Amino acid sequence: MESEARNQINNDYNKFFYATMCHVCKRFDVGVQLKLCSNCKMISYCGKEHQKQHWKQHKPLCKAIQDVLQNYSMDYCGGTTDEAWAAKKLTFARLVSSRLERPLHVDEKQMIYFPKECLVCHESKSLQSCKKCAASFCQIHKSNPDHWKPCVDLGLCLRSNLLSIKYSSPDLHSYLQRVSYTSHTFRDMQGFIKAFGSDYVPTNSEISYQLLAAKHSEYLTRPLTLFYVMRSLNYVKEQENLVIHVVGASCAEKATLSGWEVFPRLLEAVMSVKIVMIGPELKHHDVPLLSTTCAKKSLTIEFHDVLYEDYVRSSSFVKPDLVAGFNLNIYKHELGSERETWAPSIRMLAEQNCPFVSTSVTRQDSKKKIERINTILGRQVDYIYKEKNLYASFTPHRVPGPERVCYHNQYVVVYQSFCP
Ligand SMILES: [Zn+2]
Ligand SMILES: [Zn+2]
Ligand SMILES: [Zn+2]
Ligand SMILES: [Zn+2]
Repeated sequence: MESEARNQINNDYNKFFYATMCHVCKRFDVGVQLKLCSNCKMISYCGKEHQKQHWKQHKPLCKAIQDVLQNYSMDYCGGTTDEAWAAKKLTFARLVSSRLERPLHVDEKQMIYFPKECLVCHESKSLQSCKKCAASFCQIHKSNPDHWKPCVDLGLCLRSNLLSIKYSSPDLHSYLQRVSYTSHTFRDMQGFIKAFGSDYVPTNSEISYQLLAAKHSEYLTRPLTLFYVMRSLNYVKEQENLVIHVVGASCAEKATLSGWEVFPRLLEAVMSVKIVMIGPELKHHDVPLLSTTCAKKSLTIEFHDVLYEDYVRSSSFVKPDLVAGFNLNIYKHELGSERETWAPSIRMLAEQNCPFVSTSVTRQDSKKKIERINTILGRQVDYIYKEKNLYASFTPHRVPGPERVCYHNQYVVVYQSFCP
């Protein structure tokens, strides 16, 4: 793992952060003395050269962290629950983001959520790193059952991250072009990957299969979830031109665009699909308009870096046949202010009078979102489907808090519409 990671020096290093690695070359802190940034003490480098290389990008964040720390303590107090400690990190990230006047990048958030601390007890003295999962542990917890379980998931997450700098995006096209609406014999994500991706996945190594299946599923989970809702549950009529709004779209949606190719292929009557991605988080990513033709069907993906209510009022607005919100956090306040960003968007969504598909990373999150929507709309809104999603992603993502990892689109709720 170590030597493999060492050679991957390119700009993709900002895709993720580990406190136990040089941020630039991803060299692990075993056998090499990493140097902490002496200002913020939250990021390490293997030496001066890589610190210098990253300084221009790190400097504004480093300054913002120090400013916020003047009035906000991030010292861990014994006895704090995992939930409370995670909430404290979230608040800290929100304050730093507000100071910077922009949303934090993925690696910047990870710097705050996953600092160098024992994964189990959050102690920050006498730490040892685990080579398999890249997390840190105190003397007690390194070889403790509390480490074993998350080590498996976190290990897959680590390998998946390292793979993402080696191959920027998997070659999905070569196997997605074999997919057509006559060929769907699959019943879940695993079945889909086995049916179409088996030639691309080495069968001799269980680890490689697991890793590649995880990677592919991350690209396929959104289109396959919507396909499942449309076809198997028959909630949206297939028609020649289909318009789908993706609300609250962020870098997770932007990073997996190539998977959408599968969607028009699976729908018999549909000739053109327009995916409209809407969300302020798209602002800081340069995303072009994507337009391709696959199997004589056209697929267009466009991006609007605004709030949903602003998009609906704009001249670019096209009425949706279906609206999707993937893993939304509808409690999120705008950049540190106490203003509810989601309430006006949910009300605007209700006016569309079309099906809404909402996915969540946990059952609890799914339940909370249903309650939140009821609160915003001031009445009980009936959903027609609420299940564990057969097309969830297999890629683990680290989360602060007791769960350690989450999987995108684990639970799905479908509303026929928000109208009474
Ligand atoms: Zn380095
Ligand atoms: Zn710093
Ligand atoms: Zn510990
Ligand atoms: Zn481990």
